[in-house]
Parts: sequence; C-alpha cells; structure tokens
Amino acid sequence: MQWSTHDIHNQVAALQDYNLYDSDPVLQAAVERQGAGWHAPALRQQGNLLGEAATLALAEQANRHGPELHTHNASGHRIDQIEFHPSWHALMALTRSHGLVSLPFTQPRAGVWAAYAASQYLHNQIEAGTYCPISMTFASIPVLRKESALFARIGPALLSHIYDARDLPVEQKSAMLVGMGMTEKQGGSDVRGNTTRAVALAGAGRGAEYALTGHKWFFSAPMCDAHLVLARAEEGLSCFYVPRRLPDGSKNRVEIQRLKDKLGNRSNASSEVEFKEAWALMVGEPGRGIPTILEMATYTRLHNVISSAALMRQASVQALHYTRHREAFGKRLIEQPLMASVLADLLLESEAALLLAMHLAQAFEQTPEPLSQAWQRIITPAAKFWVCKRAVELTGEAMEVFGGNGYVESGPMARLFREAPVNSIWEGSGNVMCLDVLRALSREPEAAQRLLSDLESQAGDDPLLGGQLHALRAMLAQTPDTLESNARRIVQKLVLIAQGCLMRAHAPGTIADAFLRSRFDGDGGRVFGSLPPVIDRAAIIARAWQD
Ligand SMILES: Cc1cc2nc3c(=O)[nH]c(=O)nc-3n(C[C@H](O)[C@H](O)[C@H](O)COP(=O)(O)OP(=O)(O)OC[C@H]3O[C@@H](n4cnc5c(N)ncnc54)[C@H](O)[C@@H]3O)c2cc1C
Repeated sequence: MQWSTHDIHNQVAALQDYNLYDSDPVLQAAVERQGAGWHAPALRQQGNLLGEAATLALAEQANRHGPELHTHNASGHRIDQIEFHPSWHALMALTRSHGLVSLPFTQPRAGVWAAYAASQYLHNQIEAGTYCPISMTFASIPVLRKESALFARIGPALLSHIYDARDLPVEQKSAMLVGMGMTEKQGGSDVRGNTTRAVALAGAGRGAEYALTGHKWFFSAPMCDAHLVLARAEEGLSCFYVPRRLPDGSKNRVEIQRLKDKLGNRSNASSEVEFKEAWALMVGEPGRGIPTILEMATYTRLHNVISSAALMRQASVQALHYTRHREAFGKRLIEQPLMASVLADLLLESEAALLLAMHLAQAFEQTPEPLSQAWQRIITPAAKFWVCKRAVELTGEAMEVFGGNGYVESGPMARLFREAPVNSIWEGSGNVMCLDVLRALSREPEAAQRLLSDLESQAGDDPLLGGQLHALRAMLAQTPDTLESNARRIVQKLVLIAQGCLMRAHAPGTIADAFLRSRFDGDGGRVFGSLPPVIDRAAIIARAWQD
C-alpha cells in the first residue's frame, strides 16, 4: 500500500559528475599563463575524477566516519594506533598519486609550482581533511633534505607518489608521512614557552640522538611515520625528527592521550601526545629550532591559502548550481536581482583568492629572485590572514544561499563551513600572521620597498589602486604602537591592493573594475551582496563556471 502526502518538486539534485578543471576558466587561464600548460591533461583528469559521484561519496564517508584511537591492544600492550575508514585511505592514495606530497621536488621544471597549486586547489574543493598530513609532509621536505644522512635513508619514501599506510619502520615502507609538533598547553603562538625537554643520548648537536620528555597539546596526524618536534635542548629550543617506529621495529615512546573532538576537519585525526623519553634526532642547528620549523610553516601557510581559496571556489560553485535550479517567488533564484548580487560578490572574492594563491605559489618557484622572496616573506602571512578569514565568511554566506538545506549535514555546505575556520587558526592565527607581516616589513625594509614599488608600477594610473597605495604608505609610517594595533587594517589593505593588481592584470576589465569598486569605493557594504549598482552581475556569473 502507498501513502503519498505530496509530490516532491523544487528540490535541487546534488552537484556531481562534473569536471572541476574544465568548468573553471580562471584556473585554466592561470595554469597556462604561469607556464604549467604541460600539466593541464593531468589536471583535467584529476578534475574529472574528483567530480565523480563515487569520489564525492568517499569524501562524505571519510568525514562522517572519523578516525578512532586505539591506545592498547587486546593483551594490554600500548599500540597508539589510529583506525581510519577505508574512504580516508582511498582519498590519501589519490592525493599521493596526484603528486600532492612532492610534485615540485620530484619534477623541478618551469611552471611546476603553478601545476602543484592548481592540483591542490582541485583536491581541497572535494576533501580538505587529507590536506593536513599531505601539506605537512610536503613542507618537511625542504627542511629534511638539508640533513643529508637522514635524507639518504628516508628521501625516497618522503618523495614517493605511492600511499603506504602500514605501521612499520620507515626503512620497510615505500612511502611515509611527516607531521609537526610545536603547540603545548601553555601556548602555541609563543612557542618560546615550550617545556618539552631534549636530553642528549650520545654526543650532541645536529644529527645526534636525544631523548624527549614532555607533551604536545595539538599534534595532528599522529599516524604519521615521523614528526618534526620543538623541544628544549641545552642550547635552547631545537627541532627534532621523532619517528613513530624505531629501526628495530619497536614503537617509539610517544603516547597518544586522546583525539581532539573538532568542529570540522573531521576526517583528519588531531591528537594530544606525551613523549616519554622518546627517541629523536636533532634537525638543524642546536638552539635554532624556531627558524628551522618556521621554514616548514612557510610552506604550510601557502597551503592554507590554497585550501581556503579552494573552499571558496567550491562554496561558490555549489551556490551557482543551487540557484540555477531552485525557484522562489516565480523565478529561479539566480534570476532574482538581489541573489545575483550575492552570487557575483562571492565569485569576485573567489577569483581574487585564486589569483593570489597562484601568484604566491609562483613566488616559491622563482626564489631567489628578490621580488619573489619579498612576496614569499611578506605576502605569505598576509594572504594566510586574509584569504583564510574570507573563507569563513564566504562559506557562511554560500551556505545561506541554500536556505535551510545549507544548514544540514545531508548537503555539502555544512562541511565546507565547518572546515573553513581551522585554516585561520592553525599554522599561526590571524593576529600572529598580521604581526608577522609587520615584523617582515620592518626587518626587511628593502624587500618591503621592492614589494610596494612593484605594486605601484602594476597599479599604473588606476586611481583607486593609487589612492589605496598612498594610504598604505601613510599607515606604514605610523609609530610602532599604532602600527601594532592597526596591523589588521594594514594587512587587509596590503592584500586587497595585491589582489586588485592581479585582477587588473588578469581578469576582464569589467570584472577587475567590479572588484576594485566594490572593495575600495567608500560606500561598499560590510556583507557579501552589497555591490555598487553599476556592476554587471550577470557578466560575472556567466563567466565563472562553465559546465
Ligand atoms: C585542528 C587543529 C589541529 C592542530 N594541529 C597542530 C599540529 O599538528 N601541530 C601543532 O604544533 N599545532 C597544531 N595546532 C595548534 C595551532 O597551531 C594553535 O592552536 C595556534 O597556533 C594557536 O595557538 P594556541 O591555541 O595556543 O593559542 P594562543 O597562542 O593562546 O593564542 C590565542 C589567540 O591570541 C592571539 N595572539 C597570540 N599572540 C598575540 C599577540 N602578541 N597579539 C595579539 N594577539 C595574539 C592568537 O592570534 C589567537 O587568536 C592545531 C590546532 C587545531 C585547531
């Protein structure tokens, strides 16, 4: 017998079976422009695979069935193992096969950083939890390859495009993952207060063996084969390589206390750990642990920018898809003038974030060219602050485009929204990033001048950009106290100017104008969807997503 109370209509089918790369003209243009056209076939294939319903289901499952900690085995022995849903392993295997752990290091050719950033951008749109262990492993490579004896042993597994989840000593594995451990209970921003102690076992200094005793309050991806950890040696805070297993196969004395119960980022395991005389090797110079591990953080911060840009793209595309098919008050939502204002504004933000992320990635390729170094040192923390913050706001607004359907876990928007804030918090929270930008500007005045002069020449005779640059220079001339309390305003202006210059250089004139007018004109609103009336919303919407 059938009981039917109603027919279902005006509900929107899930967005699936589309190609994330082919439908993104801005990404394609950036890839070509930045010399990564040789990677376009691979990106197209990746974009197709990521858009398939089966891959979307993996992402959904990995987040619904999060990791579980098993501290002991049946006979009471400590094992400290993390059990993941099979979907997590499938997604991790995808990331590795697409070179997301090491592409720029294994294929150092022109355009490889753009190719890499584009690939990360595609992956993060579909599942962002996996990017945590992937980006930390990536970021450890430049640090670890300076340790020649250690790198000779682990290099092939570190650079590998294969995924190997087995809990074995690294020497027996075809691939490894590396995490980072800095944050302790008493403070993560000011790691100078770290209390974990390192005692030399035989000899001391770079490459020597130590025993670590203490804790880390946030220790993501504890299943990694090794972590780079900050601990206090006789010479001061130093960086250590702490493997999960020792060469003889026994487990290192790193105990996982519990997993964090997180707002988002649920597919990924984050933990609290204690080191009980854990075996470690010193990496970098004794007492130079902060600069050593900050080198790693520069790369993970670039990843945060790419990941947040990706969340914005996916949220915007989902909003476009939904409004194309949902009707209210007699029209499709996308045809309602006020909704078109919201969509166009989201798309402008998303495009500017992508252009910034891609240009920043290029700067990592062009080191030691001085302007690229200035971008790397100053724009990395600036973009990490701004783009990650904008992703929180944008994913919230895009969620509302779905109405009530946005707020429930059966659709894609709630996960995007829950995922966004973590990029702003970890790897240096917002204020810390802004203070880092000020530090870079004052400690490296030549780099600061080079960056500002370059932005001025790119701005040309654009009156809006020129006015903003003038105002920025005036803000930078303030007294140190005023500078610090104004750091967010300064960094916001710097990033918007950089994004404005990139939009002016690479977006069609009307779209660049729309960005500049809406971001710099005095009567701009404080929420998405408050674009000035003259802006051609339809042109922005028509260009953004081509399916
Ligand atoms: C899901 C997740 C996973 C994580 N994984 C890892 C990991 O794997 N390894 C790791 O080492 N850490 C990890 N972290 C920790 C993260 O990096 C820290 O939480 C972050 O650096 C901030 O440190 P804190 O939590 O101790 O906050 P605090 O340092 O106490 O900072 C609190 C607030 O004060 C602000 N602040 C700090 N100093 C100043 C100042 N001088 N002026 C103005 N404002 C200031 C900060 O911006 C922040 O907003 C993780 C965090 C999360 C949420």
